[in-house]
Amino acid sequence: MSVSAVAADRSVCAPLPVLGRDVLVPLVTGGEVDYAALDYAASAPALQRVWDDVAAYAPYYGSVHRGAGYLSQLSTDLFENSRRTIEKFLGCGTEDQVVFTRSTTDSLNLLASVLPQDTRVFVFETEHHASLLPWEQRADTTVTYLDAPRTPRQAVDTLEKALAERDPYGPALVCVTGASNVTGELWPVRELAAAAHAHGARIVLDAAQLVPHHPVDIAELDVDWVAFSGHKLYAPFGAGVLAGRADWLQAADPYLAGGGASRKVSRRTDGGVDVEWHTTAARHEAGSPNVIGAYAIASACQALTEAGFDDLVAREQDLIARLRAGLAEVPEVNVLSLFGDDAARVGVLSFVVEGWNSSHFAAALSAEYGIGVRDGLFCAHPLVRTLLGSAPQDPGECGAPDAAPGESSLNAIRVSVGVGT
Ligand code: PLP
Repeated sequence: MSVSAVAADRSVCAPLPVLGRDVLVPLVTGGEVDYAALDYAASAPALQRVWDDVAAYAPYYGSVHRGAGYLSQLSTDLFENSRRTIEKFLGCGTEDQVVFTRSTTDSLNLLASVLPQDTRVFVFETEHHASLLPWEQRADTTVTYLDAPRTPRQAVDTLEKALAERDPYGPALVCVTGASNVTGELWPVRELAAAAHAHGARIVLDAAQLVPHHPVDIAELDVDWVAFSGHKLYAPFGAGVLAGRADWLQAADPYLAGGGASRKVSRRTDGGVDVEWHTTAARHEAGSPNVIGAYAIASACQALTEAGFDDLVAREQDLIARLRAGLAEVPEVNVLSLFGDDAARVGVLSFVVEGWNSSHFAAALSAEYGIGVRDGLFCAHPLVRTLLGSAPQDPGECGAPDAAPGESSLNAIRVSVGVGT
């Protein structure tokens, strides 16, 4: 089915008197456009440069690490060079490894699978589900969920206290999001990393919303791992990264068992099979990897490195400041925030409108005003519920798209920007 046929099938309409195209589009885009896609936090459109690089490679692709043929060799070189580009982009040390995964969710599940026996995991309840949920998949892991802090300082104090009180004192991991996908607020990653390390714990940074907006340097932030997704970093879907310390990764069994992860497989005399697994990133990349996805991520990293983050950050800050100023003039609008008005933030902002159900509101923004935003609980249900506690809105009959059927229909609207808005 063609894109236009599917598009023609979609039309939703609802009246929208409070805040419409006249207000929001000029605020965010500075001018008239046919359709403003303001949902970069879900997936950012791939850069033209990335599409061009992928299109130039497409006639040549082949499976990697598998053969002497020219296309296989070329693809292997591109795949491994992509790894080097990403290492550089993240400021990895010589001991670090970049593992290609499917997404941030996949990266964090991979990390959960390699935790040493009986690791204690510390995670704020405010996390995206990708960083909140993987840890309990391990039966031997104990997870401590930390209450939502109301200031960055409180976040550090809460973590320090929890780590200091842990009993028994064994392997521990802190998982924290660098920038919230709900409020856009920046978390005090450097301070949280220092607290983790001071208490003998390690820390993984969920950088899904941070890498598209800010330079992320593993050494400078002093985090042990970074996880992110290509599709939020101006590359297409299907590839992600887990980068950082190699020791836990290489001490554990492979995330997936199969070809590519295994270096040598032989039959034993007792009839079984012995396997020697790779000790490189390949250990956790079994199967034919997503070479195009990896190459696209590297292309996006290269493009952002060359463009520099300064202009991008300045533009996003300007757009969000204009949006905030405009929203502040509409009394019915409540902007959601954990850390308050002065918090540092990226180009992501969520709000509710008094008297309106957020799903109706978002549908009307799209259908009537050509503005594409996200509505719902943003895969961060505990956080959004905490934030909605004091923000009145009409429950309506329309549930949040990512809430369970029949569950509270209270939800929120999110606007997010990036390159090209
Ligand atoms: N972490 C954060 C902060 C996110 O915003 C998202 C996606 O919205 C994820 C993790 C999960 O990313 P993915 O769906 O690409 O695995």
